[in-house]
Amino acid sequence: MVYDKKMTSSRHILSKSTFMRGLQCPKSLYLNKYHRELRDELDMSQEAIFRTGKMVGELACGLFPGGVNASPPDPFHYQDSVQLTRKLITEGTEVIYEAAFQHDQVLAVADILVRAGDKWKAFEVKSSTSVKEPFLWDVALQYYVVSGSDIELEDFYIAYINNQYVRQGELDLQQLFALTSVITQAKELQPQVEEHILESKAVLAGNEIPELDIGPYCSDPYDCDFNAHCWSHIPNDSIFIVARLGKKKKFELYYNGTIQIEDIPETFPLNSTSKCHVDCHVHNRPIIEKDRIGNFVKSLNYPLYFLDFETINPAIPPFDNTRPYQAIPYQYSLHFKSSPQSDLDHTGFLADAGTDPRKPFIESLLKDTSGPGDILVYSLSFEATRIKELAEQFPEYNTDLMALSSRLKDLMLPFQKRYYYTPEMKGSYSIKAVLPALVPDMRYEDLEVSDGVQAMEAYRELEDEKDPQRVTEIRDALWEYCKLDTLAMVRIMEKLESL
Ligand code: SF4
Repeated sequence: MVYDKKMTSSRHILSKSTFMRGLQCPKSLYLNKYHRELRDELDMSQEAIFRTGKMVGELACGLFPGGVNASPPDPFHYQDSVQLTRKLITEGTEVIYEAAFQHDQVLAVADILVRAGDKWKAFEVKSSTSVKEPFLWDVALQYYVVSGSDIELEDFYIAYINNQYVRQGELDLQQLFALTSVITQAKELQPQVEEHILESKAVLAGNEIPELDIGPYCSDPYDCDFNAHCWSHIPNDSIFIVARLGKKKKFELYYNGTIQIEDIPETFPLNSTSKCHVDCHVHNRPIIEKDRIGNFVKSLNYPLYFLDFETINPAIPPFDNTRPYQAIPYQYSLHFKSSPQSDLDHTGFLADAGTDPRKPFIESLLKDTSGPGDILVYSLSFEATRIKELAEQFPEYNTDLMALSSRLKDLMLPFQKRYYYTPEMKGSYSIKAVLPALVPDMRYEDLEVSDGVQAMEAYRELEDEKDPQRVTEIRDALWEYCKLDTLAMVRIMEKLESL
């Protein structure tokens, strides 16, 4: 192929990400182009997902070392990247990272391009642990653009995380990444890709925002970032928060003109959980089943411990004997009461960031819970699963950890089973919904770290933080957050006991 600058010099109309956006919703495609000011701000968990994706992408380049990176200095100079990619191909470069192509006014960037004789192999890197359907469209578009640029692709792979890989020593990239060829699917999707490109160009050429109501596509396959704009007419207490009501049924109600919970027709089929939520909301009437709550309270044996774990789940296993995305406990908070009337004690554990926290975590936890008594957690399966995993990874503590696990009791149960439900819980039984309903004077919002995602990010920040004062501030914030979780459990328990 002779390099022709004219072929690439005009700016693209569509890119891989805008193509995918348009596939999900044409309105989103249009708003993203002409009304970016309406986009929601990235929240912390989305930033973390992007950061993980970038890190995984960079790591995957190590599968084919020695390549040349063709990425532009900033997103406004992709034409330079297209030209550089052409130049690298013409010069005989074997491996190109971020290889950019433009065809039919569509820009596509292949994460890794590897020469295979007179053909090429392309790799799309994903930080997920399986090949998902939207990835096929992503690759199909790239296939369309790369092939249209007269580059013959021998194969096209998705490189994703193999969550069965267990790290031992240095990272083994061949084990960490799984490769699946999707070139057959990409070829099959070509007619639809072409059609969709035409439709997207027509949307972008329009003078008005496409008239499109909200729908299931607002969160499928991804959460759209124009939610605040498009959903502004939906109140907080709408049919969309009804517990255990499927998305399909919610939109069935919405498209028939029902937005408020109180307007749900009596004849509309609801399961018992949804019905309970709707009835409580409509009649503003709590459910408090004192007998069942009493039985639950009586089933607990003092002394009582109130326990909560915080975990990280990094895509890249950071320590020996960890897998990708494994939940690794790094902190716990533990409140203790020897009897319902006794004073409250507190202790906890917070690992040094950057070190493997598991062994010191286990030793501290076993010591702190060595006395008799039940251990209350909120959502038992989470803590029980972490303990089981630790017992498997550290067999020397297996007996003690499994004994500890047998003492766990779930404080969530009375709320999950709706022995206690108030309209303020808005259909949820998470501790963040239950606490303000039962103990209105306790708040998470005032804390520097106020949810699990922020806690993970704060702990990650600790790894790089050099300023001792800031380290102390972050550790204090983590400590306060986790402590509030178990204090919340204590207060909830006291409320149940008072009934
Ligand atoms: S919020 Fe829904 S309707 Fe609005 S742009 Fe996004 S996907 Fe489309």
